[in-house]
Amino acid sequence: MIWLYIKFAIKFRVSSEEEHIMGKKILIVGGVAAGATAAAKIRRLSESAEITLIERGPYVSYANCGLPYFISGDIKNRSKLLLQTPEGFLKRYNVNVLIETEALGINRKDKKLKIRNKNGESLIDYDTLVLSQGGNPIFPSMPGSNSEHVFKLWTVPDMDRIHTFIEDHKPKTAVVVGGGFIGLEMAEAFHARNMKTTIVEMAPHVMSTMDPEFGKLIEQKLIENDLGVITGVGVKGVLENSKEVELSDGRKIPADLVLFSVGVKPELSLAKECGLEIGDTGGLLVNKFLQTSDPFIYAAGDILEITNKISDKKVRIPLAGPANRQGRIVADNVIHNNTTPYNGALGTSVVKILDSTAAITGITEKLARELGFEVGIVYIHKEHHASYYPGAQMIHMKLIFDKKNSKILGAQAFGRNGVDKRIDVIAVAIQGNLKVEDLTELDLAYAPPYSSANDPINMIAFVAQNSLTGFSPTITPKEAIEKIKLGDSTLIDVRTPEEFKKGHVKSSINIPVDELRSRLKELDPEKEYFVTCRVGYRGHLANRILLENNFKKVKNVTGGYLSLQLEGGFIEEF
Ligand SMILES: Cc1cc2nc3c(=O)[nH]c(=O)nc-3n(C[C@H](O)[C@H](O)[C@H](O)COP(=O)(O)OP(=O)(O)OC[C@H]3O[C@@H](n4cnc5c(N)ncnc54)[C@H](O)[C@@H]3O)c2cc1C
Repeated sequence: MIWLYIKFAIKFRVSSEEEHIMGKKILIVGGVAAGATAAAKIRRLSESAEITLIERGPYVSYANCGLPYFISGDIKNRSKLLLQTPEGFLKRYNVNVLIETEALGINRKDKKLKIRNKNGESLIDYDTLVLSQGGNPIFPSMPGSNSEHVFKLWTVPDMDRIHTFIEDHKPKTAVVVGGGFIGLEMAEAFHARNMKTTIVEMAPHVMSTMDPEFGKLIEQKLIENDLGVITGVGVKGVLENSKEVELSDGRKIPADLVLFSVGVKPELSLAKECGLEIGDTGGLLVNKFLQTSDPFIYAAGDILEITNKISDKKVRIPLAGPANRQGRIVADNVIHNNTTPYNGALGTSVVKILDSTAAITGITEKLARELGFEVGIVYIHKEHHASYYPGAQMIHMKLIFDKKNSKILGAQAFGRNGVDKRIDVIAVAIQGNLKVEDLTELDLAYAPPYSSANDPINMIAFVAQNSLTGFSPTITPKEAIEKIKLGDSTLIDVRTPEEFKKGHVKSSINIPVDELRSRLKELDPEKEYFVTCRVGYRGHLANRILLENNFKKVKNVTGGYLSLQLEGGFIEEF
């Protein structure tokens, strides 16, 4: 009886949905990540919908994230970047794709979209419209920026122009303006094409979506590999005749080729013109079902303003992962009448830096402090797999958490191997609302070529947990240096005399951890001490010895001397 009822209920649901979408005209503007995904998913959900995809460029559903790797030569075959064709879309998904067709205006009252292509201008009716127009790279207007050796990279034609220029002119020098992930990928591509390449970044460090110490690690890697990095300076203009870029401080940098990669802003001309609401961050405003202020218009991708899952604030996260997921969710909501909410994103991202990788999930320390969290920070610098197995490489990790409730707020990592895996695991942990103590218990795959019995994730969680419980209190390198400078506290460096001699924090004293028990009388239990070693482990042991001997005010500098070096400023190196 129950079975019959369920069968009836399912049948009824399907038929009412079929009715709702029968012959429904769905127009999608923008045919790459979000738009193409939405089109394909809508078709999988409904055979009866009439789907048209409008794309102003010559290609649909191409791999824009792969463009830098064709320029570098890593991807040899250009056609691999072109994932679908209009014909392929029609055959497989029965989606009508109009390329080289620009949407010019939306008449919301009559539900018509004005388009222009080689056949001229015309109007197309819609029942539901999806805006997935992405964004446009910001291209600053300044002297020389229209020269033929100055480029941006956003589309396949942009990529082709750069590639052809390199083939025809064999440039020897390049300047990349902007040190975000596309700028870094392109700097590496130009370097691979034998150009002496300089990155100019106006912010104090490259990769400003990460905290400064990670910017510094990335800069070190680039400089070690003969790329130039100039930070904290803007660009004044491009000098066409001398083939140089002039900086705001007057310096001139040789540049046979210049690439601007200074950010992206949402493509909102259609939305604004037809009066859709725009959010405070400058992205298109949508509700939790990705529906704009007009219930017949949905939107997905870089065009949007979305919610950051940690801060609960509105943000723009122009990345391919969120764009693809939003495309799927829009499809669900268009077909099933708003059944699938979009809950926002963490902004998890990863970038290849020569032989290394930098990755982040969640929010930075800077943002966490600005938002008023009671911020806890710990670092580890640990081999990515068992140190005794050949090929172990240092992975630098930072965990950011809320000291009030041990909630994980974010993580960043840099290293040669295993960085993406650690950041992805922490992204999953955040998604699952796991806390610091849960990370200590994660049962992660281990064999010496892959990890350690205590994976770096377990290790960083141990450090955080020890700090939170007071078993082994920690202090950040920044706070430690500030206090030492004021003369309030003394730093005990527990490394060997040989290590200490090579470089140490000014005014620190050297008591190797193995001698600490026998030299306690040299210290005053009433005073505040910070302890440090190379990476934090011997500091932890020293912390415990001191605490067990009634020293009440001791803290381990998290990340040890390596983190102090990244903080910089009060260090003597010999
Ligand atoms: C070089 C490069 C590398 C990247 N690498 C990564 C990466 O490694 N990881 C990552 O997560 N993200 C990366 N991204 C970002 C990622 O590609 C974007 O977040 C994603 O493509 C956004 O998808 P979207 O559908 O919103 O917009 P887009 O993919 O930009 O598509 C929007 C489309 O809409 C079309 N359009 C706009 N207006 C109109 C109109 N009026 N009429 C018709 N068509 C219109 C545009 O021509 C465009 O093709 C990279 C981007 C670039 C450019």
